[in-house]
Amino acid sequence: MLSLDFIELDHLPEGVLERPASALYQYFQGPTLIHLQGRDKRPLVVSVLQHGNEVTGWEAIRRLLKLHYRHSELPRSLLILIGNPLAAKHRLRRLDDQPDFNRCWPGGKEADSEYTRLFNRIHERMRELDPLAVIDVHNNTGLNPHYAAVNLIRADYLRLASLFATKVVYFTMPAGTLSLSMSEFCPSLTLECGQAGEIHGTDHTMAFLETCLNLEKISTRPIDSEAVHLFHMVATVNVNNDVLFGFGRVPAELALREDLDKFNFCELPAGTSFGDLNNPTRQPLFAYDPEGVDVTGDYFFFGRGQVETTREVMPSMLTLDRRVIQQDCLCYLMDRIHYEFDEEVTGPDPLPEGIKRSDRPGSPPSV
Ligand SMILES: [Zn+2]
Repeated sequence: MLSLDFIELDHLPEGVLERPASALYQYFQGPTLIHLQGRDKRPLVVSVLQHGNEVTGWEAIRRLLKLHYRHSELPRSLLILIGNPLAAKHRLRRLDDQPDFNRCWPGGKEADSEYTRLFNRIHERMRELDPLAVIDVHNNTGLNPHYAAVNLIRADYLRLASLFATKVVYFTMPAGTLSLSMSEFCPSLTLECGQAGEIHGTDHTMAFLETCLNLEKISTRPIDSEAVHLFHMVATVNVNNDVLFGFGRVPAELALREDLDKFNFCELPAGTSFGDLNNPTRQPLFAYDPEGVDVTGDYFFFGRGQVETTREVMPSMLTLDRRVIQQDCLCYLMDRIHYEFDEEVTGPDPLPEGIKRSDRPGSPPSV
């Protein structure tokens, strides 16, 4: 039975580091905070398994602790949040009778429930502990590079993100995510570490967590906009339901490139072709902005027997999976955010010129 309270431990249960995510339910019935003391007492919070099938965070944590800290002191206290061990048992994002945990944090749109109250209490507990930073580890399903997402544009937040990858995504939707709710009081990231189970995702995450544990502080000095490339989502692209499409050299109305997913997280120049258009009478793609407005013409041109981009843009979540394309979308389009910091960032005044609060960037893939 799910306990709708969280528990706190001051140690790791014996043997737990030997166990995969799917076995953690034998130790934890629900959300659990595990405090491990280090030299510097201000903790680094690492959240794993908010989505039960996204195991990279747990794999990285257990390997890090086993390999490096079994016999030596942590440089900094570590607070591990184990999110959803019951869903992990079944290798599911969540159970049928559970909400998506990463929508239930304060500020979310989920109706008031036992879950939103539970995550509100965990949030308050974390605030009390005054963490150096919060890192929430996720996986996604496409062929995407690893990236970090921030919810506030501040030098220290971007600096932390840049230690994971130079391309950083900014999002404020969906609401109710852990990283968004925590970014109100400390640097806070959502990490997307590729597909679950990939060894290089675990390696990369483990190295990043180790770096974070060894940071003395996170500098608020202005960061050079060339050092961190910041993007936000501007459109979702769907294939027209009425158009027959395929990949490579196929006699379909729309023949998309067979290596289309190589474009993920590449900044494509205007005029880049997504594939051949063999039936020019039907519009092959539609692009919608986060408010649902049709912006196809801002991004694509279909006039030369090709699907061509009309401006510089960076796709993400491009997939070759027909089912995903039909049920979800072909890809998201991201746009570069130009920002500049003039002076030391001290207060939460995060939005640089050119980004208005009303811009409301959309959801990044997955989260
Ligand atoms: Zn996730």
